[in-house]
Parts: sequence; C-alpha cells; structure tokens
Amino acid sequence: MQLSRFVVSYRDIRPGEHVLYSVLADHYVGIDDATSDALERWTRGRRPADAAERETQQVLLEEGFLVRSRAEDDANLRAFLDRAAEGEPGTMQVTLMPTLACNLACTYCFQKDHPAFTKMHERTEDSTLEWILRTLDERALRVLHVHYFGGEPLTRKDFMLRTAEVLSASMEARGGRFRWSCTTNGIGLTPDFALEMRRFGDGLFMVTLDGDRETHDQMRVYRNGRGSFDQIFDNVVACADLVRILVNGNFLPEQRESFERLLDRIEAAGLRGKLAGVNFKPIVDTQKAKASCTGCGDKQESQVLVQLNNASCTGRTTTPSTPRAASTSAR
Ligand code: SF4
Repeated sequence: MQLSRFVVSYRDIRPGEHVLYSVLADHYVGIDDATSDALERWTRGRRPADAAERETQQVLLEEGFLVRSRAEDDANLRAFLDRAAEGEPGTMQVTLMPTLACNLACTYCFQKDHPAFTKMHERTEDSTLEWILRTLDERALRVLHVHYFGGEPLTRKDFMLRTAEVLSASMEARGGRFRWSCTTNGIGLTPDFALEMRRFGDGLFMVTLDGDRETHDQMRVYRNGRGSFDQIFDNVVACADLVRILVNGNFLPEQRESFERLLDRIEAAGLRGKLAGVNFKPIVDTQKAKASCTGCGDKQESQVLVQLNNASCTGRTTTPSTPRAASTSAR
C-alpha cells in the first residue's frame, strides 16, 4: 500500500492538518494527523488498526489517493493518459492553479478551518508558459485549452489575464487556437473581467450555486459567515450575455427541493437559454460521516442526482456528473 506518486501532499496547512491533491483525479482531500500516521504505517506494510481505518483506507484506494503497488499506479496513469489521448486529438489541455487562496470559507471545504495562502511565484509562471509552448511545438499541437483552477482563481485576475494574453498570442502566431475555462466561485466575476477574458478566445466560467439562496447561504459563506448567493447570482445575471457560464451545484440528499427552486429562479431571471448548462453534483457531509474522506459511491446521493437531472431535463439544460467528495475543492 502506498500513496500514489501522482498525489501532492500539502503538509501542515495548519498544525496537524494536511491536504492531499490528486493530480489525476483533480481533487483534494483533507486528512488529520491520525490519518497521516495511518498512511505511514500502511506504506510500511502494516494493516489498518480497526474498522474505521479500514474504511478510510478503502475510500482513499477508491479515490486513487492510495495504490496497492507501483504497477497499479502505472496502470492508473496509463488509463488516465489513454482517456486524455482519446479526448481531443491535436489539443493540449493544461490546468493552471495560480493560487490556493480563496475569498470564501465554504462549510464543506478544507478552506473553512484551514485557509490556504500560497500563490504561484512569477518564476514558476514564466517557466510554466515556456513549458507549455515548448510542448506544443514538440508535439505539433494546434489547439491549447487552459483551465484555471484554485483556490479561487479570480483572486488572481492578473495571472489569468497575463497568461491568457501570452498564450492566445502565441497560438495565433502558430496558426492555432487558444481556449480557456475557469472553475470559480463567481464572487469576482464581473462584466469587465468577462469581456477582458473573452478577448483571448472561446472561454467558459463554471460557477457554483449550491441550491437556492437559503440552502446555498448555509454552506457557501464568506469567512465572517455571510452568505454569498446574492453576489454570485447577480454576477451570473450580469455576465450571462457576455460570456459562456456553466452553473454547477453541490447538494446533500435532502436538498433536492432547493435545487428545484434554484432552477425556477434561473428561469425567472431570464437565464434560460443563456447558460452553457446546469450541472448538479451530490456531496457527502464528512463531519457527520466522521471520516477524513467520503464514500463517494453512496447510493442515496446517486439516486437524488438522477432525480434532479430528470427534473432539470424537462426544458432545462443539464449535464451528467459523478459523485464527489465534500472535502474536495468543489467551488
Ligand atoms: S469550496 Fe471552493 S469556493 Fe468554497 S471555500 Fe473551498 S475553494 Fe473556496
């Protein structure tokens, strides 16, 4: 048993609290000292000490944070690369994470208790751009898709504008095409910024609304506890005519009706037909589950997902999705 070598470990974000980031699965999980110690023991060949450790180990295995052997890690990478290779021939896809910092403190996110502050250094930014352009040329790729991720990437608008400008100009000079997308909480999404980014090519903002105002504001809050729904919804309405926006939502099983109300509100605001889509994902409350990470295959959440997507398919846009851990950076 070992930690996948495609997992980045951020130790001691606060004393005794650590974050694992899976590069292949593109999500985070928060672990405490006890789980970190258990990971050490498991990698030395020891078995889980009790049922709780067994359950934690199983979830980390299913999520790809842990692997049974180097061969399994290689197989996971091969499967990931095969999927990526099948994706879009001639296209390079890159995720850029300019910062781990966020201007919200959602109740289900590790940022709530353990805010992150790190941001990409200028030297790393320069060498990242060089690497992207070198790789494009070596492989004769003519389409570049950059996804901006965080933390909250819109707290680094300077980074987004700078890199998008360099990369779009570089792709134009090569006779190619630059595309971008951005996973954001929507707090900093303004018409001015949407227009600025649109200058650099076809783009998409993916914004999270966790249900209607009442439900959303119980979870997606500023650090002082204030709800963020009104600000985000107003920003989506203000920008929907200017740039493509996909609305994502994370919900607990009992919150189905709230998402129905959100769909009604989206329609009432005149957003129907203007959004790129609406995409709801089930989450699990890890505090209630008393585990460091979640059982993501939970049947109840999956069932509610099916019900919601059925409901939203009747005249509303939606895309299918898979369950995701509540402790991930869900936006
Ligand atoms: S879930 Fe996303 S928006 Fe909310 S605190 Fe975490 S990183 Fe920020």
